[in-house]
Amino acid sequence: MSSSTEVLVIGAGVLGLSTAAELLRRGHEVTVVDPGTVNASAVAAGMIAPAFEALADWRGSDGQLDRSDLFRAARAQWSDFATAFDLPLHREGAEWRGPDLEVVASQLRWLGFPAERTGDAVVTPADWRTEPAAALTRLRSLPGLTVMPGRVSSLTTDGTRWTARLEDGSGLAARSVVLATGAVNGLDLPEPVARLVAQLQPIRGQIAVTARHLVERTVRGPAGYIAPGPGGSVIGASMEPDRTDLQPDLERGSAMVRACLAQIGVKESPAVTWRVGVRGATRDGLPMVGAAGPVGLHLALAPRRNGWLLGPLVARTVVDGLEGRAAEPFALALDPRRLA
Ligand SMILES: Cc1cc2nc3c(=O)[nH]c(=O)nc-3n(C[C@H](O)[C@H](O)[C@H](O)COP(=O)(O)OP(=O)(O)OC[C@H]3O[C@@H](n4cnc5c(N)ncnc54)[C@H](O)[C@@H]3O)c2cc1C
Repeated sequence: MSSSTEVLVIGAGVLGLSTAAELLRRGHEVTVVDPGTVNASAVAAGMIAPAFEALADWRGSDGQLDRSDLFRAARAQWSDFATAFDLPLHREGAEWRGPDLEVVASQLRWLGFPAERTGDAVVTPADWRTEPAAALTRLRSLPGLTVMPGRVSSLTTDGTRWTARLEDGSGLAARSVVLATGAVNGLDLPEPVARLVAQLQPIRGQIAVTARHLVERTVRGPAGYIAPGPGGSVIGASMEPDRTDLQPDLERGSAMVRACLAQIGVKESPAVTWRVGVRGATRDGLPMVGAAGPVGLHLALAPRRNGWLLGPLVARTVVDGLEGRAAEPFALALDPRRLA
């Protein structure tokens, strides 16, 4: 059976669904296709964390990478996006606990974020949080959005229309396609997109979920973070480059949990369940977002550890490109062609 749509979005993670939501809001007809298995977006902690993520990148690069402007621009999209699509948004801020409080406070301020020393913590109101499972459910069920179960095996074009062939043999035709397939897609793609996508590096992440309510807002430190989660807390997360397996590593995970709990002075580990997801990343650590070469094909890929933070900004950038609007300043930094 074959059918057609104006815009086909392949992948129902945060990038695919945010883009689909933005397309709907601007009056486009959209179909999303996804196999429906658990993805990185569902596993995530849901931090919308421009301040501590910019700090992590800056420190991790010995001061060479300042992503604070991009991350601030991304968070700035969230209020309107959450209101428009009725997504959970918690603005309680986040804090740092560790040995180097004064240094962290001054580095956050240097990156342009408000930061205050409060007792044995540095607190910033700049970092917010959503609830991934609830947000994905809301986005998937937006009125007017068609979400089809299925896995696309190939994508071809005759120069004016695209055809996505699904594994069950059916086909879907579309004027435009947004590829939002995460770290690994197994798709047969035309050049030069196939070459671009082949560059994606998978980075496995493991996170613990506990029913114990451990923190009122996200607490970060050298060992990782503890964040409020639905019905308890989440503790994470590992960064394991070039791994795509989804089996939790209990020994390594338990050590991470103990170290994170020590940051908040908790000695006994609560019962946890494990979740594992795989993030996609590019060699410069920024996503691949926008037109990809062949007319009508757009990418929304590789947000690394910031898919939730970047979701609404990526969506807006992709849809602007699809509508032929002038690119916003940050769009150039994300343009897939920089990696060709
Ligand atoms: C443990 C962990 C914690 C994290 N915490 C945070 C956080 O707090 N804040 C934050 O901003 N980010 C966080 N991240 C990162 C964030 O989760 C990712 O950057 C983001 O989810 C990636 O979204 P995506 O839409 O690109 O990919 P995904 O969520 O992987 O979605 C891609 C979708 O495409 C589908 N797909 C793939 N191939 C095909 C095909 N051929 N046909 C059809 N569909 C296909 C997949 O099944 C999947 O559903 C975390 C990640 C992990 C692993």
